[in-house]
Amino acid sequence: MIDERLVLDANAVAGDLEELFGIDLTAVVHRCAHCGNLGPMATLLAYVHGPGTVLRCSVCTDVVLRYVRTPWGMRLDVRGAAELRLKLPAGPDLGPTIRPVIPTPGSGRPVEE
Ligand SMILES: [Zn+2]
Repeated sequence: MIDERLVLDANAVAGDLEELFGIDLTAVVHRCAHCGNLGPMATLLAYVHGPGTVLRCSVCTDVVLRYVRTPWGMRLDVRGAAELRLKLPAGPDLGPTIRPVIPTPGSGRPVEE
């Protein structure tokens, strides 16, 4: 059982994410592979009190990203992120970054507007 008082937002692990990806990832938009929620990485729920760090979707709480430090480096699992929208410094606009996700009754799957 996880003590919910220990859950942080992903800003708490911004330094780790920057170390892993080489950029500030907190404003990067992710898409949850489970529910389709789109949102900045900073909105993920950070569970940091285990052997590794787990970032969960703020809508469905499914795992989006997890990593652990080992003596040999970092192990990273991003299977829960269907997409990461990284802006290039001089690149084109990637389109709308955040769209609301509205669950449809009975389907168990959200539908984007
Ligand atoms: Zn989700």
